[in-house]
Amino acid sequence: MVYACGLIGKTLGYSVSPVIFRTFCEEAGVEGDYCRVELPTEEAFRNFVKCGLVEGPFAGFNVTIPYKEAAYALSNVRGSDAERTGAVNTLSIESGRLRGDNTDVFGFVRSAEEHLSVDARNVALVVGAGGAARAVLAGLEKLGFTRALVLNRSSDRAARLARELAKRLGLPIETVSNEAAVRELCEIGSLDVIVNATPVGMKGSAPGMPVSESIFDLVNPHGIVIDLVYNPPETNLLRNARKRSIKTLNGVGMLVWQAARSFEIWTGILPDTKRAFEMVNEVLA
Ligand code: NAP
Repeated sequence: MVYACGLIGKTLGYSVSPVIFRTFCEEAGVEGDYCRVELPTEEAFRNFVKCGLVEGPFAGFNVTIPYKEAAYALSNVRGSDAERTGAVNTLSIESGRLRGDNTDVFGFVRSAEEHLSVDARNVALVVGAGGAARAVLAGLEKLGFTRALVLNRSSDRAARLARELAKRLGLPIETVSNEAAVRELCEIGSLDVIVNATPVGMKGSAPGMPVSESIFDLVNPHGIVIDLVYNPPETNLLRNARKRSIKTLNGVGMLVWQAARSFEIWTGILPDTKRAFEMVNEVLA
């Protein structure tokens, strides 16, 4: 069997996902290819999924901004992390029905778990309230966190996320409208993790940092700053955290592990990720 897969989004730019998928095929000894599909509207997205996957030759698709919620709505059957987040990043066919999964949750957990101290898994600050933030919050719950603060540019989107996830997750989520509010709720050294789930700092996107450096004072000595951005591999956020001797993690691990889990859904094989990590780091260097 040849596995024809792809990534669907509105504007994809350069994506390393084809490189990761082809490396997995080589590692797993299967034949396959991976294309990028840019679609301008939700209607075009729905039509493409129907023609390409439900009635067509593709084995599966990854889905990215802005179609993850549309992919959730379109799915006939869903994995548990899709239900926990209300978002789908992986589509496949299961017994003739469209299946939706969220492998970003697995990617985040698998990437973060070995870097998190067992003594620092209580309070998290998540910056951003989009699809990635949902996966991070579902992942933080799995990792044992007991409280999450969500800080977002637009407070209405943060409020919507908190309202929706309150029905789906057991993790208490509080929204904060600015950094002063974070300081009111958290003492110095009480934050165990800060996660950037916005594109701020990404190559070609808004430069700078998603939070100001003074927020690092709140981070626990065993804590960590995680940036979901992987290009550049070290954003200003991570560089400044590292300069203050705070542990850091970029988005490469999440990217590779979510892709590995999607690959497993399509082919039945969880691939060895070592070469994919090497390839991605080489491409981004
Ligand atoms: P999304 O659904 O479009 O949400 C983007 C979020 O970032 C929103 O909360 C938005 O705030 C905020 N934001 C956007 N531009 C901003 C700016 N200039 N200043 C402050 N906040 C800003 O996107 P997403 O899917 O959640 O993805 C977010 C980031 O995570 C992207 O960089 C993406 O590449 C990365 N990501 C990485 C991985 C990985 O595997 N490493 C996986 C998924 C996502 P508003 O609500 O105010 O617009």
